[in-house]
Amino acid sequence: MNRRMFLACAFATLLAGGCSRGAREESRPAARDGRLRVIATTQVVADLVRELGGDRVDVTSWMGPGVDPHGYEPSPGDLERLVGADLAFSLGLSLEERASDTLARAAAEGHPAFAVAGSIDPSRLLRPAALGGAVDPHVWLDASLWSSAVRGVVEVLASAEPDSRLYFEENARIYREKLAELDEWCRSEIALIPAERRVLITAHDAFGYFGRAYGVDTVGLEGPAPDVPRIVDLVRERGVPAVFSETSMSRGSVDAVVEAVRAVGGTLAASGPLYSDAMGPAGTPAATYPGMMRANVEAITEALQ
Ligand SMILES: [Zn+2]
Repeated sequence: MNRRMFLACAFATLLAGGCSRGAREESRPAARDGRLRVIATTQVVADLVRELGGDRVDVTSWMGPGVDPHGYEPSPGDLERLVGADLAFSLGLSLEERASDTLARAAAEGHPAFAVAGSIDPSRLLRPAALGGAVDPHVWLDASLWSSAVRGVVEVLASAEPDSRLYFEENARIYREKLAELDEWCRSEIALIPAERRVLITAHDAFGYFGRAYGVDTVGLEGPAPDVPRIVDLVRERGVPAVFSETSMSRGSVDAVVEAVRAVGGTLAASGPLYSDAMGPAGTPAATYPGMMRANVEAITEALQ
């Protein structure tokens, strides 16, 4: 089967059903270097798999810096990479709202696809009233909670590559320690902000887990109907000095709140951008998960102190 036929078959399989399993497997490109070829939806998911898989995985993420996963639609190139991969990882919890059907169908068609959040204890998940009882998917913004997703990823990698189990488990042990240190650092830094000013107003409601973990009240501007007058009151009552844009969101709502506070004679700085649903570009400090968390905490403590 030539490449064009292979792709046509992959699309037919993923999007409408068709092509025999045998034909597709035969057409999968051979591994180039013995590494597991892994597709991840977001940069944060890719980073976790890279840390645990080390040099025995070749991880590519669909989404890059500044991309909003909630509205992301997989491109034809994404589908090509998905059918050519050994494993695919998503965050799950409906974060990749528009990509979830594609991933579910890929799994049903024999392309192993796993949701990283699936191994997090459900009792630790938030179901904010603003989401009408749905689970908040932004679990990675609590380093301790994110650490609890490690075990599931290791199991998936070890199932695919049993000879490397000890290697993956050792990577996991080292990475959990790193995340525990990061978690402690975030808590101690945020504690330096005067208690009344620990209010994190961001472009969208991504920081619920962060707030619960590190002792900050959080407000997301985009999401179900932000109540701007209430936010203006909150800013004035608590003496909140700044509101934060995010790299993966438009800053319109942030500017609107800054303007609304000005209109009543107050001052509010537009700070950030924070890294919420996307990390920084390659080569920048925020291009890893610990780096993005540190960059966020530094920006937050500087603006709110
Ligand atoms: Zn989000």
